[in-house]
Amino acid sequence: MKSFNTKIIAILNQKGGVGKTTSSINIASFLAITETPTLLIDMDPQANASSGLGIDINNHKSIYDIMINNVNIKKCILQTKIDYLDIIPSHTKLSGAEIELVSMFTRESILKDALQSVLGKYKYIIIDTPPSLGLLTINVLTASKSLIIPIQCEYYALEGLSQLLNTIRLIQKNLNPELNIEGILITMFDSRLNMSHQVVSEVKEYFGDKVYKTCIKRNVKLGEAPSFGKPIILYDASSTGAQNYMNLVSEMLNNNE
Ligand code: ADP
Ligand code: MG
Repeated sequence: MKSFNTKIIAILNQKGGVGKTTSSINIASFLAITETPTLLIDMDPQANASSGLGIDINNHKSIYDIMINNVNIKKCILQTKIDYLDIIPSHTKLSGAEIELVSMFTRESILKDALQSVLGKYKYIIIDTPPSLGLLTINVLTASKSLIIPIQCEYYALEGLSQLLNTIRLIQKNLNPELNIEGILITMFDSRLNMSHQVVSEVKEYFGDKVYKTCIKRNVKLGEAPSFGKPIILYDASSTGAQNYMNLVSEMLNNNE
């Protein structure tokens, strides 16, 4: 079997509702559509990435078992409806993990250590993260090579970003010197709104060429797809949302060539 130089990318922003889960599901799906072996890890106790791919979280081992019960990662990986896409689902039990982790030895690197045995099996590992900067997120930051930061076009879009960038710097200094920013992703863009254009120009001023050329527009189909347990490619492949995420993934793949 082919062995890959696996790249671990986390989708991160401690704000809720900015498009992390939607981006995780659809980036992972479009990577898989291009026959790129991909593993999606759902690290959010809300388990929206798992349910958004039609997984019944009560029937499977989850990231909780890896983080807390020391269960072998290979027992927690499921195939999805999409070829080349596997998932490690989350579970609502994970909400207790922040506290359970506090007393654990090597508590910052449990995820990193667990992932060692699947490196080489996938080209990309995409991690959806919870809306906080607690120990679960610190595990993700310790394990990842790079970050995609979705920024929603709304008032106060940049609020909280300096805290996030500070956390990233601390992790780089103490736990993971190789961590970098893969890209900044504008989400829920609406070209009719001045505010959307304003957010884009502020974000570009701040992050320069780290900002993806592809914006994700506001698109109702992207909001509907998860309730059918489907990524946008299976729900409505001709939607603007599908086109946006497809373009994003080709931009991402180009950047990584
Ligand atoms: P997060 O994971 O950061 O909390 P989500 O991806 O769950 O954010 O998105 C928040 C809500 O907005 C969800 O209901 C989702 O379906 C919806 N949504 C996400 N992206 C878009 C978009 N581009 N257009 C319309 N609705 C979106
Ligand atoms: Mg989410």
